Amino acid sequence: MVLPAWQDDEAATAVPTIGTGPELPFCETCRSDQYLIIEEFVPPRLQPRTGLTSAEASYSCLKCGQFSGHEVPSDWEPPGWFWYA
Ligand SMILES: [Zn+2]
Repeated sequence: MVLPAWQDDEAATAVPTIGTGPELPFCETCRSDQYLIIEEFVPPRLQPRTGLTSAEASYSCLKCGQFSGHEVPSDWEPPGWFWYA
């Protein structure tokens, strides 16, 4: 059995995963992101031992009601997002 490269944590942090990395929030049903409401957003965090932890977002679609949540690209943040000081 050959493990896919992405199961190797060290390789995953060293090699850009273009095309196979976290996806932007998107409603597959509506084929759009314009109805999405971001329910929860966890910004990327820099961990002392494991390096950068991916950002995560949970969201639902106002139009069809679909709920989803997964890792998102580290440079993405919800529209209108701001840090509470
Ligand atoms: Zn939808």
